[in-house]
Amino acid sequence: MRERFVIGNWKLNGSLATNALLLAALKDGVSAKQGASCGICVPAPYLGQVRQALSGSTIGWGSQDVSRMQAGAYTGEISAAMVAEFGARYTLVGHSERRAIFGETDASGAEKFGRARESGLTPVVCVGESLAERESGSTEEVVWRQLRAVIELHGVQKMVGSILAYEPVWAIGTGKTASPAQAEEVHAFLRSQVAALDADVGRNLSILYGGSIKKSNAAELFSMQNIDGGLIGGASLVAEEFLGIWKAL
Ligand code: PEP
Repeated sequence: MRERFVIGNWKLNGSLATNALLLAALKDGVSAKQGASCGICVPAPYLGQVRQALSGSTIGWGSQDVSRMQAGAYTGEISAAMVAEFGARYTLVGHSERRAIFGETDASGAEKFGRARESGLTPVVCVGESLAERESGSTEEVVWRQLRAVIELHGVQKMVGSILAYEPVWAIGTGKTASPAQAEEVHAFLRSQVAALDADVGRNLSILYGGSIKKSNAAELFSMQNIDGGLIGGASLVAEEFLGIWKAL
C-alpha cells in the first residue's frame, strides 16, 4: 500500500498569533490514520513555533523551499540542514510559484532535492503545466521534463521515500480544480514513466494532487486510483477546511 498524505502549504501567510490558533485546532482535530500522514509546510521563521505547538501530535511539518547550497556566503538562503534541525520532516521543492516568480529551474529544483535528501528531509517534488502548455497538448512532456531533471541527477531509487505532487499551474489558487479524471490521467502517466525505469519505485511512489482542493471536492479526487492525497494551499489556512480534507483522505 502506498503511503497517503495531506500536506498544507501556508505560502507567505501567518503571524505568531494566527498560527497559534490554527495549530491548536489542527493538533486537536487531526487524528491518526493508518498508512497516512498529515503535514504542513510553513514559512521558515515559524518552524520553531510549529515544532513547539505540534510536539506530541502526529502532524509533521516542514519548509516550502530550501537552498540548493549547503552552507557559506549565500545571504538570505536557508539550508535543508537548518530546516531539519527544527525536527522538520518535509520540504517542498520546485513549487510552481518558485518557478514562475523566482526563476527557479528544473536544474535548481533537482539540486534542492539532493540537499533535502542529504539532510533527511522528505522532498515533495512539485510538477505541473501552465494553461498554455495544457492547451497546446504538452502537459505530459512538461511534467515529465520537470521530474526527469530530479531523476537524472539523483537516480530513480532516490524517489523511494520522496513524494511527487502534480499541481497544474492553472488550478493553483484560482478556484479551478482539475477534474478527478484530468488529474488521474496525469498521475497515471507520471507513475508509468517512473515504473518504466523501476517497476517497484513507480508502484510505490506517493503522488499527490494540488490545485484548489477544498473539503467539498477532496473525497472525489482522493478516490482516484493514482491520487495518493493532496497538497493544499489556501484551504490549509482554514482549520475546518484542512481538517475536512484530512477526513476525506
Ligand atoms: C499550492 O500552493 O500548492 C496549492 C495547491 O494552492 P491552492 O490549494 O490554493 O490552489
